[in-house]
Amino acid sequence: MAKEKISIIVPCYNEEESLPIFYEEIISIAKSMKKVDFEFLFVDDGSRDNTLEVMRALSKKDKRVRYISFSRNFGKEAAMYAGLENAIGDYVAVMDADLQDPPTLLPVMYKDIKESLYDCVATRRVSRVGEPKIRSFFARQFYKIINKISKADIVDGARDFRLMTRQMVDSIVGMREYNRFSKGIFGWVGFKTKWLEYENIERVAGVTKWSFWKLFLYSIEGIIAFSTAPLVIASIIGMLFLLIAFILIIVIIVKTLAFGDPTAGWPSLVCIIFFVSGIQLFCIGIIGQYLSKTYLETKGRPIYIVRERETDKK
Ligand code: UDP
Ligand code: MG
Repeated sequence: MAKEKISIIVPCYNEEESLPIFYEEIISIAKSMKKVDFEFLFVDDGSRDNTLEVMRALSKKDKRVRYISFSRNFGKEAAMYAGLENAIGDYVAVMDADLQDPPTLLPVMYKDIKESLYDCVATRRVSRVGEPKIRSFFARQFYKIINKISKADIVDGARDFRLMTRQMVDSIVGMREYNRFSKGIFGWVGFKTKWLEYENIERVAGVTKWSFWKLFLYSIEGIIAFSTAPLVIASIIGMLFLLIAFILIIVIIVKTLAFGDPTAGWPSLVCIIFFVSGIQLFCIGIIGQYLSKTYLETKGRPIYIVRERETDKK
């Protein structure tokens, strides 16, 4: 009987320093797992350094190494999608190139998925050591909010590092949306997931590609992609103000007719106009967010564009 194959997908953006270290680690783990075959699928997400050369060299040396190189930087989500779509293994794992996802967990994950009825063994960090305090704080708040307002189960501290069955991978590949938020997609497709926990590990080399601002925008994207609650909130705020305005108008009319009070002060009026128009702009902004995402989805653009693969002669 042919051996089962595990595909390891590694999105890489400017990882020339980390990738060789990662490769050494992963092949030593692969060597220890004699019962399975491996495929290493590196996705070069339009790196500006020598990541692609590193991949070419590795794939020349090792037949198990495949790579896909994008025409530009499409983001980690696109890189993961390309990996999932092109992987041929019976099981597929997604891992970062910086060894923040410990490869030593792989044998454990494989054992779990083989021996139990799980479709996916995923990992989550139980600590955020080595991360700026303020970032951890906002990350926590984000998970709290999105889980309240979204149907998809999005786990705090969940990494993208997970081993999945072919069945689950196929259903994820079937979700061809352009605005991808994997943490939501993994939860949305369902299946039985087992969680392994570990302490945060700092990256071996290079620097993180996520600034606070990038993370903030990403969190908004996550909310927009997996919840329509902001739209409901906008409508509720609108209705509330309509009600308040209605009551105020009646009060003023009654006051003027019954007591002959002159209606006081235009400064208060200006405040109200500012306040209400502010809320209107805010709500239009929310609608705009959904509209813009819808706009991008309807264009049906490809999620990524390939410039080179290991099968190309270069
Ligand atoms: N990455 C990518 N495209 C990007 C940004 C990041 O493929 O536009 C990859 C990166 O090379 C790494 C993984 O995504 O393998 C995680 O990135 P990073 O370590 O910078 O994020 P962090 O671990 O700090 O959240
Ligand atoms: Mg990292």
